[in-house]
Amino acid sequence: MGFERIAIIGLGLLGGSIGLAVRDHLPGVTTTGYDADPATRTRAAERGLVGTVCDSAAEAVRNAQLVIMCVPVGAMGAAAEAIAPTLPTDALVSDVGSSKQTVARALSAALPHNVVIPAHPVAGTERSGADAGFATLFQQRWCIITPPEGADPAKVAALSAFWEALGAKIEIMDPQHHDLVLAITSHLPHLIAYTIVGTADDLEGVTQGEVIKYSAGGFRDFTRIAASDPTMWRDVFLSNKDAVLDMLQRFTEDLTALQRAIRVGDGDQLFDHFTRTRAIRRSIIEEGQDDARPDFGRSDHGG
Ligand code: NAP
Repeated sequence: MGFERIAIIGLGLLGGSIGLAVRDHLPGVTTTGYDADPATRTRAAERGLVGTVCDSAAEAVRNAQLVIMCVPVGAMGAAAEAIAPTLPTDALVSDVGSSKQTVARALSAALPHNVVIPAHPVAGTERSGADAGFATLFQQRWCIITPPEGADPAKVAALSAFWEALGAKIEIMDPQHHDLVLAITSHLPHLIAYTIVGTADDLEGVTQGEVIKYSAGGFRDFTRIAASDPTMWRDVFLSNKDAVLDMLQRFTEDLTALQRAIRVGDGDQLFDHFTRTRAIRRSIIEEGQDDARPDFGRSDHGG
């Protein structure tokens, strides 16, 4: 794998999970970490998320061979500027941000002397903060690595080996394609969940008590997603704006088609559509990306 000293900037769900997974899977590797929030630093030290919690980002990266930025995508630029003065020029810089084109630009602009190879482990939960992380978060999940053009294959291989050691499966992808794929598989579903939960909250004529009482009818599955971190998701939508707006346009057209089918009573269209979507759910289960357990992949005891 080639890295003996790893620094993690941001010790919330992703940073904490990486620290714990390194502790479990790469015992010879030392980890340092920093988080902007003093309370998170204290809790990170208590939980042992990294070997050493530092008082500054600059201190955390001073001897690092690999630095992983685990802050919200809108904070990547500022966090990279904070490590620039002490970052060894031969350190590889990566991240876990949910969008890739804007993050790659922000990191490369702040750290022009370092190799930057962005990545996105497609694994997460609706929880955030220093108590949210767990060592098995990346088991059997995909990690998408988006190397810039002309990236050193040896460095891409080293980063891939790191994520594989943590249990992830690797996919190499162009950053633009990543942003398009994730817009439909992750960003749009979050936008829809935020919308539907907000709509139910605003309804007149149906009480909030009724919405909660009868939530097992489908609503509660949206509320889990809509409970996701507001800072993280604000930043995702602002940073992956074009791809999200593209997908939203497609979605709106499809929604209008279903709306019309309901209005004109076209049951065949509704039935065919729902049959097609049911098959997609089956494929996800066959691929091992979900199962019947409600917390599958979202906790250290749920699979
Ligand atoms: P999180 O639990 O909120 O952790 C992020 C931490 O970074 C917070 O403690 C935050 O402190 C800290 N931070 C913010 N700005 C900082 C800075 N300049 N320097 C140092 N620390 C800073 O969020 P997360 O879920 O781990 O998300 C981190 C990254 O992972 C995001 O880019 C997100 O897009 C990506 N990601 C998330 C998921 C998911 O499901 N959550 C999945 C895949 C990838 P404050 O709270 O004080 O701001």
